[in-house]
Amino acid sequence: MLPFADLLRRRLSSLLPAELEPHERLKLLTPFRHSLLVSRHRAGLIVGRVRLFALLFALLTPLWGVVDLIAFPYPLWTQLLALRVVVCLAFFSLLLFYREQGRMTDAYLAMFILFAIPTLFYISSHTLLAHYELVDMPAAVAAGYAFLPFVLMAGLALFPLTLLENLLVAVVLLAAQAVAGYLNWSTLNWPSFVGAFWLLILIAGVTGLACMSQLAFMMALLRQAIRDDLTGVFSRNSGEEILQVQWNTSLRNNSALSLAFIDLDHFKQINDSFGHGIGDAALRSASQHIQDCMRSSDSLVRWGGEEFLLIMPDTDMTRARQALERLQAIGLGQRPDGTALTASIGVAERYYDRIEQPQQLLALADQRMYKAKAAGRNRIQAL
Ligand code: GH3
Ligand code: MG
Ligand code: MG
Repeated sequence: MLPFADLLRRRLSSLLPAELEPHERLKLLTPFRHSLLVSRHRAGLIVGRVRLFALLFALLTPLWGVVDLIAFPYPLWTQLLALRVVVCLAFFSLLLFYREQGRMTDAYLAMFILFAIPTLFYISSHTLLAHYELVDMPAAVAAGYAFLPFVLMAGLALFPLTLLENLLVAVVLLAAQAVAGYLNWSTLNWPSFVGAFWLLILIAGVTGLACMSQLAFMMALLRQAIRDDLTGVFSRNSGEEILQVQWNTSLRNNSALSLAFIDLDHFKQINDSFGHGIGDAALRSASQHIQDCMRSSDSLVRWGGEEFLLIMPDTDMTRARQALERLQAIGLGQRPDGTALTASIGVAERYYDRIEQPQQLLALADQRMYKAKAAGRNRIQAL
């Protein structure tokens, strides 16, 4: 029994996306606790896909009016055409005028508008069509109108969404389908309505899997792109992006933003005396020590060889110094000869130092780090 249970456990765990690390898998379920860069890139990707969809729908919706013209009697086709023109304009406006600033709320709103337009079109066209007794070819074209919810539900698969987000959209689409059924209560063909509803639920299930696997790939690719290979902390490029984003947030909210420049002391000696491999291990251990004592909202960046940046949002100078003193007390690990590995730290804060540009914040922290070196190393310099 035990080997079987073990086999089952291993098989089940191999069903989870292999490209994700264990702690990342929970992030496929809900959008909470996603890192700043994951949320930013996801928001950008979602809005990009919304625009792609909007373009396709903006082009295809009026084109289908030709089919209506051939299949439907007057005035039905003109009424539908009027609806189609409105829909086309709405999609073009979404494509051209919707702006995003890298926030997930921007992405949610874009998706909401994208799905709301065809859903309203679906409900109104359904109501129009219900007033007509159609047979043969017109009836076949009218039946095609019932496919719109399926197109939308399947289209959801193009977005990198968490399970919770996917469920919410699916429930809204299912509710719209139920409303359309309710509005046409008198003429509703019950068996085919229930069959279609069931099919829509099945498609929602498949779509949920597709969305989560898109998200898993996105997160894995992003991790490779934004992390430093040796230490696993943010690379310099992503550090620059994080600093800019945190700077903007701190200006907007009028909140504190501290930055610490951490340079390990006499690091070259470790390489020279013990070899590069041992030096690499010391770098990994130092970055781990910093990560262990920083807050989850802080970001650690490997800025250069043995230089790190610690970006601390919502942290004023006093609290930044306290945090860095705590780090100094815990230490950055040991040098291979058993002595403590130390660092010289320069710290600057946006408000305290009356700084106007993120580059100035960086330059000041760097300058103070050199002061700390000159003053004898292994210290925090805040002036
Ligand atoms: P100081 O106290 O003045 O900062 O002295 P230092 O030796 O730390 O500073 P210096 O800038 O002279 O040397 C930095 C050294 O860091 C040089 C280089 O060998 C080492 N280093 C940079 N990147 C890596 C890396 O990826 N792995 C290893 N093992 N060493 C690195
Ligand atoms: Mg250095
Ligand atoms: Mg150094």
